Amino acid sequence: MKTYISLWPAQAPELPFPRSVAILGSTGSIGVSALSVIAQHPDLFCVAALAGGRNAQRLAEQAAHFRPGVLAVLDEAVARELKALLPAGYAPEILFGQEAYEAVAAMPGTDLVLSAIVGAAGFLPTLAAAKAGKRIALANKESLVLGGRLIRAACRASGAVVLPVDSEHNALFQALCGHNGDADLARLILTASGGPFRGKDAAFLAAVTPAQALNHPNWSMGAKISIDSATLMNKGLEVIEACHLYGLPVSRVEVLVHPQSLVHSLAEYVDGSQLAHLGLPDMRIPIAHSLCYPRRVALDMPRLDLAQAGDLTFEAPDEALFPCLGLAKAAFAASHSHPVALNAANEVAVDLFLQGRIGFPDIPRLIEAALARHTALKENCSAAELIAADTETRRQTLAAAATNA
Ligand code: NAD
Ligand code: MG
Repeated sequence: MKTYISLWPAQAPELPFPRSVAILGSTGSIGVSALSVIAQHPDLFCVAALAGGRNAQRLAEQAAHFRPGVLAVLDEAVARELKALLPAGYAPEILFGQEAYEAVAAMPGTDLVLSAIVGAAGFLPTLAAAKAGKRIALANKESLVLGGRLIRAACRASGAVVLPVDSEHNALFQALCGHNGDADLARLILTASGGPFRGKDAAFLAAVTPAQALNHPNWSMGAKISIDSATLMNKGLEVIEACHLYGLPVSRVEVLVHPQSLVHSLAEYVDGSQLAHLGLPDMRIPIAHSLCYPRRVALDMPRLDLAQAGDLTFEAPDEALFPCLGLAKAAFAASHSHPVALNAANEVAVDLFLQGRIGFPDIPRLIEAALARHTALKENCSAAELIAADTETRRQTLAAAATNA
């Protein structure tokens, strides 16, 4: 299978500056970092649309600064709240509801879509951007987990391209630039910090609280991905993401724990060369790379000083203590729809854990049960069928959690 979505330099169509950009999830951790990159380079971008969720206050502040013509939020009440917060004399179009995100993603006149909504909610907007032929800077890894096959097909049909924002995949994209095709490549190695509970034991994990799990040692991120990092599900989702982006089977994508989070992943070639990408753990680096590619822009932030960094260490992941990584690999190998069940059960379980309704070890337990219940959908199923499987898995996982509570 050779279905790269990311572009090699020779294949990249020109995308002149200034680029007109739509940001989905602008009020989140990635969205805020992206706007700080754009604010440092106002001559390179025109912000055409900003889409947030329920945080009207933050979206209004962003909109007042960047003055896009279109805003989108989750529902009508938030849209009304947002309108009241905008400065006098500025009257953008305000859209709301799930379809609003798809409309923003496919908006005529924009070149670039940053897909940074969290969770499965990002899938249909990302698919809409792919169908509309946009260049997509993709942070929302769940899109590829749910519907990588459909997104790849839409990119092939429309000429859309996906550039990875996720730090490991962006690192791989950089390490793969210039390689001569699939026969050169041996395997991809995704690095993982190991999360806040690396080296702990099962008794410790049984008692951890949401506050402990949210306290990531190296990265500052949204709540859902922080819990995914603590369970290693984030790395599991990233293995699936890498398989879709780089057209490799799961057996050629490996995970290496690197607690300092300075080496962001490695590509190994058949001659044994390993090319790594290094940098401080700051998402502005991969965000700027994917928004500006192939140009590189200066970023006003500290630099990695390896003489000061201390030891860089590496170890194998503990898949027995953190079963989510193995569950993700098994789901991807099982069928193209098992990752839908994996992701939906994970989102429900993470939410229940954050609400204090289940324990940390219940997260993999609920996911494993959801995978066992799932019947594979047919190979060429539609986006609507994938969403229906997602909805059904959520219902069943909530019921299973309630039964065991
Ligand atoms: P976040 O929770 O900080 O922000 C999520 C954004 O999505 C917010 O703007 C929120 O309003 C919006 N949103 C939430 N639910 C929505 C819904 N149902 N419909 C529409 N919008 C909705 O999340 P984040 O940490 O910025 O992560 C965003 C995505 O990027 C995730 O898929 C995550 O896995 C990925 N990612 C994040 C990081 C990071 O450092 N934060 C790194 C790599 C990848
Ligand atoms: Mg990552």
